Amino acid sequence: MRYFVNENCIGCGLCSSICPEVFTMSDAGTAVAAGNDVPAEQMESAKEAAHSCPVDAIEEC
Ligand code: SF4
Repeated sequence: MRYFVNENCIGCGLCSSICPEVFTMSDAGTAVAAGNDVPAEQMESAKEAAHSCPVDAIEEC
């Protein structure tokens, strides 16, 4: 499974602090999700990050 950060992102940084292996902050100040499938060992923290987003900007794809 992969994640995608949509245009709702307000750049709060929460997702990258919870799961930095999958979510990083771009130069534009918004989050970017790794383009590859989330490794099994990071699924839990990636899911937590997605659920923690205050504006529901993280979608599964
Ligand atoms: S938690 Fe949501 S709003 Fe905050 S940086 Fe991540 S995607 Fe953007």
